[in-house]
Amino acid sequence: MPVPTIPPVLTDEVTFARYPFLPQAAQWIRDMAQRHSIDLNELLDGPWMEKARQRARIRLIDSVQSKEGVQVVGGDIHTEEGRLIEAFSFYYARLVVCASEDERLIARWAQAEAARAEQLLIQDEVNLPVLAETYISEAVRISQPTGSAVLASSSTSMRQLRQGNSSLWKIGLSDFIEICPKITGDRWRLPNVDLKDGWVTLHNERQYTSSAKLARLLRERIKRGIEQEALEKMAEVTTDLAVRLAEPVGIVRNLMANKASEAIALVGAEESDWPPCMQKIIAELTNGVNVNHFGRLFLASMAATLALPQEACVGFFRGAPDFSESTTSYQVEHVYQHEYTPAGCGKLKINHNCPVLPGDNRTCDQPWMDHPLKYIRATQRWKRLTSKPAESVEKEPAQPEGSAEQKSSSDDD
Ligand code: SF4
Repeated sequence: MPVPTIPPVLTDEVTFARYPFLPQAAQWIRDMAQRHSIDLNELLDGPWMEKARQRARIRLIDSVQSKEGVQVVGGDIHTEEGRLIEAFSFYYARLVVCASEDERLIARWAQAEAARAEQLLIQDEVNLPVLAETYISEAVRISQPTGSAVLASSSTSMRQLRQGNSSLWKIGLSDFIEICPKITGDRWRLPNVDLKDGWVTLHNERQYTSSAKLARLLRERIKRGIEQEALEKMAEVTTDLAVRLAEPVGIVRNLMANKASEAIALVGAEESDWPPCMQKIIAELTNGVNVNHFGRLFLASMAATLALPQEACVGFFRGAPDFSESTTSYQVEHVYQHEYTPAGCGKLKINHNCPVLPGDNRTCDQPWMDHPLKYIRATQRWKRLTSKPAESVEKEPAQPEGSAEQKSSSDDD
């Protein structure tokens, strides 16, 4: 079923500020602009809108850099000023991505804003029905929650948010069929759902509540709505607007380029660049050793980060004593889908997955070595420097230690 053509009536300003992409919010934003005399000049350069532009920059940076999407934490939307900032920061960020005329950036931004909405909706039992009615043709709440939901803070992970207690929902089969191919995981495959009389019941699971499932489905439709609208607006960007937004567009483009070159550098890593911990786990699995869960998860997340094909990653586990093609494929797919960050050296050592002792490996001995990805970067850099003509090598630092590798962050602990 398509998205409903007539969305439900909504008048709550706090909801508009929280979900500024809603079709019902468009008129509210126009009214606010009129009430506060906010025109394009004010939005792009005026002092009154400076805070909105700052918040927009954060939204855009999060879009490129954060796996979880745009941070949920924003201004205080229970004040008129806070609502203005939230609404116009979304509006300004959309102008910037439209002015970039880069469809990849638009898609990424839409994805990040939709991921933010998903996080909010999991905890928002009040607005979830309205958004469901806006984006899904057939969605019905069967029962109210029987217990309390997870109390979220800014450090609560998505996995934690999806646990707990929630209402019980069912959605129409045609909506489910249209949305689910975009979501990976067995849970979303038709043979695995409770289907009756054209309705799919989204059962509460210990790790995934019914409301969280509905929010996940909504995320796909919200993303599509945000993206479509931005693509339409992109066609309306004038040369003058593009020139005036050149600076923020440049900042976001640079961020994207840095992210891409980082990923490409890692993706290009050869087997000989892989750290000893990764090589040891692969060798042990090949020899039928029962590698512990931590080591297995590390290997899969490294393979995902290095963009190795999923089949190659499954192949690493083929020699494991408990290998099952379907289970391993499912688990590997899960790791690839959720972009797990590989564990750092500290945790690998504690879990007996680091094979080196002091003096065994010069790179691992470096004081800055706290993450296997740093090992790869250092090895690649060292290779690059030593493969240059002797004359230019003399002008470069003699060892990869320090500099860029030392500054890169670690996800350990
Ligand atoms: S020190 Fe770190 S990079 Fe080196 S083998 Fe141990 S865990 Fe891997």
